[in-house]
Amino acid sequence: MTQIALTGLTKVFDGNVTALDSLDLTIETGEFFALLGPSGCGKTTLLRTIAGLENATSGAIRLGDRDVTRVAAGSRDVAMVFQDYALFPHMSVLDNIGYPLKIRGQSKEARGDQSQRVGEQLGLSHLMERRPAALSGGQQQRVALARAVACHPSLFLFDEPLSNLDARLRLEARGFLKRLQRELGVTTVFVTHDQAEALALADRIAVMEAGRIRQLGTPRQVFRRPANTFVANFIGSTPMNLVDATIGGDDVEIAGGRLPVPDELRGVLPTGTPVIVGMRPEYVRLSAQPAASSIVGEVAILEHLGATTLVTVDCDGEAVSATVPEDAEPAPGDRVHLSPQPGRMLLYGRDDGELIE
Ligand code: ATP
Repeated sequence: MTQIALTGLTKVFDGNVTALDSLDLTIETGEFFALLGPSGCGKTTLLRTIAGLENATSGAIRLGDRDVTRVAAGSRDVAMVFQDYALFPHMSVLDNIGYPLKIRGQSKEARGDQSQRVGEQLGLSHLMERRPAALSGGQQQRVALARAVACHPSLFLFDEPLSNLDARLRLEARGFLKRLQRELGVTTVFVTHDQAEALALADRIAVMEAGRIRQLGTPRQVFRRPANTFVANFIGSTPMNLVDATIGGDDVEIAGGRLPVPDELRGVLPTGTPVIVGMRPEYVRLSAQPAASSIVGEVAILEHLGATTLVTVDCDGEAVSATVPEDAEPAPGDRVHLSPQPGRMLLYGRDDGELIE
C-alpha cells in the first residue's frame, strides 16, 4: 500500500530559490526510506513539506488515502525528530515524552502510563525524572525518539537524528533505530548526507541533487549500478574510479590499455565513442601477473583502511584504485595489473554522465 505519494512537488523560496523541482515519489507502507544528498540539495525542505511545516509552491502530497497538500501540520498524523532533538529543557524526560499526548488532551495519568511504557521500551526507565541537560547525547536522542513513538503516528520523519552523536554511539544508535523501526513497522523517512548511514539503514534510497531525485533504488542498486556519475561519486566509502576512455571495437581503450566492453553493450557503441568507465575499487582485481584482460601501472599510494588497503595505481597518467586484503598489498613502485571483476564495469556517457544500459 502506498503511504506517501508526491506528484510534481515544487518548493520555491523567496521567488527564486528552487529547493524542490517538480518531484515525483511514492513511498510504501512500512518502508524505511532515506533521502540522501549533499548540503543544499533539498532534503530537509522535502521532509518539512511532507510534515506540513512548509507549504508546497505547487504539486500534491497524499498520505495514505488523504490529500494533505493544504492540511495543517498538526493534523497530518506524522511525528518528526529533528537534528537537535528539540527537547524542552525545563521538563523532565517523562514530561518531554508525554508532551505531544498532553497537546492531544490526554489525561495526566494516561499519558504518564504511556510515557513510562515507551520509555521502558527505549531503555530510559531510570532517567525519567532527569532534565535533558543531565543526559548524554545518545540518551537525548532516545528521548526524542520516545516522544515520537509515544504518539503512535502513521509516519516518522527523521532529520539527521544521529548527526550529533560521536562515531561509536552513532553506530549503536543506527542499529537501535533499525530494530525499532522493524518492531513498530511504521513508515519512516530519514534525511542524511551520510551515504554509509543510508546504505546501512534504508530499504530504499533517493539520491538528490538540486531539488531533483537523481536515482531511486535499494542500497544494493545504487551501490552496484549508480545511474549517473553524480550518484557514482556520492555513494561508496571509497570513491568509484571514473576514467575517461574511448570505444575501440569490442574493447574500451583506457589508461594506455584495453578492457573488454561489458557483454550487454558489445556492438552497441560505435568505435570512437567517448565514454567514462566506472569501476568500484572493491570490484577491481590487482595482480602481479597480467590477467586475460587488464591494464598495467605502477603503485603510487597505499591507504590502510583496516582489514583492507586502498591501492592507487598510476596507469599511463590515470589514477585507478583497487581494494586488496591488507596482507596482500603491493609496495609503492611495484608494477601491477588491474582488471574489473566480470560484470562490474560500467560505462557512462561522456556528454551527459548517464549510465549506458
Ligand atoms: P543540509 O544537508 O545542509 O541540511 P538540505 O539538503 O537539507 O541541506 P535544504 O535545507 O532543504 O537542503 O535547502 C535546499 C535549498 O533551499 C538551499 O539552497 C537552501 O539555501 C534553500 N532554503 C532552505 N530553506 C530556506 C528558507 N527558509 N528561505 C530561503 N531559502 C531556503
